[in-house]
Amino acid sequence: MTIAQNLQHVCKRIADTAQRCHRSAHTVNLLAVSKTRSIDDIVHAINAGQTRFGENQLQEAITKINALQDYHLEWHFIGHIQSNKTREIAHYFTWVHSIDRYKIAKRLNEQRPAHMPPLNICLQINLDEEATKSGITIDELPPLIIKIQSLTHLHLRGLMAIPAKQQDYHAQQNTFAKLRRAFVELQQQGFPLDTLSMGMSHDLEAAIEQGATIVRIGTDIFGERREKTC
Ligand SMILES: *Cc1c(COP(=O)(O)O)cnc(C)c1O
Repeated sequence: MTIAQNLQHVCKRIADTAQRCHRSAHTVNLLAVSKTRSIDDIVHAINAGQTRFGENQLQEAITKINALQDYHLEWHFIGHIQSNKTREIAHYFTWVHSIDRYKIAKRLNEQRPAHMPPLNICLQINLDEEATKSGITIDELPPLIIKIQSLTHLHLRGLMAIPAKQQDYHAQQNTFAKLRRAFVELQQQGFPLDTLSMGMSHDLEAAIEQGATIVRIGTDIFGERREKTC
């Protein structure tokens, strides 16, 4: 299968699932996760119509962003953020999905170049509540959101999660439902959030059923990665 065929297949999975859940397929955006992939592979995806790409290693991403700057692409940072990397992230990206502490948001806000539109951000939620995984717990959200809303160079869009891999469909749904409930509760409290970034190659259907507005797909577009980097 070519990258173009894979993309078509993923788009069909998205459309079929959306239809099954009475959602418009347009409310689910496909982020192609291009980490570890060559620039050639990305160009194949671009030629097949893909414009949004996700990366999790900053230096690798910058090389690609510079090489592909003639295309009008939207780059999303989805990796763990060290505070000494925020300046370049604020400069190169349109979206950051992986904000896991206030300090990082504050630095990105200060470092977002003034001539650029606000940086779109999601807060990364730790759904498994394992002490070792990065992310914010659901209980910590409201006070953190209030602080982040005052950062004018950021546009807080919503929540993101990378749950532990589960094969069982109902288990996947239950996990994503936790994020959806937190999201809906925040909306009901008046926070204007519009983005739920959840669902990867193995669980995109369950994520769409639970309201995902961005699914982040790598393997099912580009094939198996040689080394797992997440
Ligand atoms: C690698 C990665 C993905 C894509 O995972 P696949 O299983 O290859 O689809 C999605 N989100 C994040 C944060 C990742 O690091």
